Amino acid sequence: MTRYIAAYDTESPACLAACRKIVDAHRRHEMPATFFIVGKTLEANRRDYVELLDDPLFEVASHTYSHKMLRDHPVCGPAASPEQRAIEIRRGKEIVEDAFGRECVGVRPGCGFANAMRGAMDELRHMADAGYHYVSSLLWGPDYSLPARLERPFSYADDGLPDLWELPGHGWHENVLKNTTRIDMRRLTLWPPDIPQAIPDAHVETPEQEFAVNRVFIDAALREDAPFVSLIWHPWSLDRFDPDMKMLDLTFAYVRDLGMELSTYADLWRSVVEGTEDAGWSGKPDDM
Ligand SMILES: [Zn+2]
Repeated sequence: MTRYIAAYDTESPACLAACRKIVDAHRRHEMPATFFIVGKTLEANRRDYVELLDDPLFEVASHTYSHKMLRDHPVCGPAASPEQRAIEIRRGKEIVEDAFGRECVGVRPGCGFANAMRGAMDELRHMADAGYHYVSSLLWGPDYSLPARLERPFSYADDGLPDLWELPGHGWHENVLKNTTRIDMRRLTLWPPDIPQAIPDAHVETPEQEFAVNRVFIDAALREDAPFVSLIWHPWSLDRFDPDMKMLDLTFAYVRDLGMELSTYADLWRSVVEGTEDAGWSGKPDDM
């Protein structure tokens, strides 16, 4: 059974107003979600975020303390200092736990990486020591191409941490697909592409077009019997592009019609640990 996970990288002042609309859509559709939230963003509007997101439907996880890079990134810039990287990992978790009074079991590093956190021993160790159970950092395709492939969960056993799991994100960073963030890198897509239908001829311009791209990944995940599919969404960008959140209504109605299992990343992590999902992937794509 392929799970559908709605997830949001919540990271800027404009995310609060957007999250109000997003939360409404989730309650209407009884759709669970994971909100990865930047510590500083939460600190700035703590009471509002707790009021909005303290709901059994939602998991609140960390999007680091201040969105500084945990490793060098060709689009988002060089890694922060080792000391700052430790703060990003540890402080981000403390702030979520302090605000919500619940364990924060996962972290999604700012921007994500094409090689996940493989080989970043100090950062992986900080994550494990801080008590994270999963990291969601594999958010790009090979050579920092987009869209990100439908990668499966894997453990960091090869890096000596068999209990720390990678739970990737899939598809486009929707802000890039819609050009709400202009990026300098023009060599963006992979050739030949893995899923040609997932690469439109131009930036997406309507919620319906965005939904059509979402469908390509959802359908492919079901076809491949992938354990889950989760697209990479940003509240501020969703609201700027589609203030009525029409794309969410279309997408949520679609996954409900398909009868997909709905969950959060934390639920996925629990199922992977319990061995109820196929977690046998070697963790080494052929091109890394
Ligand atoms: Zn982010």
